[in-house]
Amino acid sequence: MEQLRASIRTVPDFPKPGIQFRDITTLLADPAALSTSVSLLADHVRASGADAVAGMEARGFIFGAAVAIRAGLGFVPIRKPGKLPVETVGVEYDLEYGTDRLELDPSGLRDGMRVALVDDLIATGGTALAAAKLVQQCSCEVSTAAFVIDLPDLGGADRLRGSGIDVKTLVSFE
Ligand code: 5GP
Repeated sequence: MEQLRASIRTVPDFPKPGIQFRDITTLLADPAALSTSVSLLADHVRASGADAVAGMEARGFIFGAAVAIRAGLGFVPIRKPGKLPVETVGVEYDLEYGTDRLELDPSGLRDGMRVALVDDLIATGGTALAAAKLVQQCSCEVSTAAFVIDLPDLGGADRLRGSGIDVKTLVSFE
């Protein structure tokens, strides 16, 4: 796990001054770190009894699709607004300043499916909670929410657990 942690680059003052951005580009380029992170997340997703994996745009697509393949499941993209060519289910959520929206094409899901959410990182949990709402609006259940990186000081994992969602993270940065 130390190797996995060491493969993640920290970029100070991105996207704005004072933010320490945890950059997964270096992890993706490291074959051992990439394979370890995907297989650990896939083991957890499989154990959660998931029937499908949903990943949040954009870095959640990279890990989510790889985890889905490893776990033998299909992948559902959760997208930024206006990207999908069909009627979607959408949810608005609050950002530090203003709001944002996520959309999902429900045709890949059936009522009662157990869906694992996958993203690179959880910070405040706002994105993951919105994604969970989308899944629930499609009459599905969240089997787990799995992330490579946790920023525990921002409280997202606790917020998700407080909403009854199982959470798995691989490395933390305080
Ligand atoms: P949250 O909604 O939990 O506050 O933020 C998580 C979302 O923002 C994730 O989709 C994640 O990709 C992105 N994010 C926020 N901060 C960082 C960061 O430091 N590094 C990376 N790689 N993603 C971040």
